[in-house]
Amino acid sequence: MGSTKAPPNALSAAPRTLERMARGTEHQATREQKPCEHCGRPFQDRKRWAGRDQWDEVRYCSRACRSAAAAQRRRERRAS
Ligand SMILES: [Zn+2]
Repeated sequence: MGSTKAPPNALSAAPRTLERMARGTEHQATREQKPCEHCGRPFQDRKRWAGRDQWDEVRYCSRACRSAAAAQRRRERRAS
């Protein structure tokens, strides 16, 4: 029991994700788009938001931005 080699899953998954993103943007051009309130990057409606009718409530491009914005707001409140 000496080998603790972990398979480089993260590395091998990256190119595939990029490929999928590049393909996805092509036929999503007609979809609704709005800027993320945290990072300012434009992002598009997603199936899971549209299906649940949540598009109007979605303000951030990702969960990371959402939690980052929430943490920032909490920090600002504490500082004042
Ligand atoms: Zn964002």
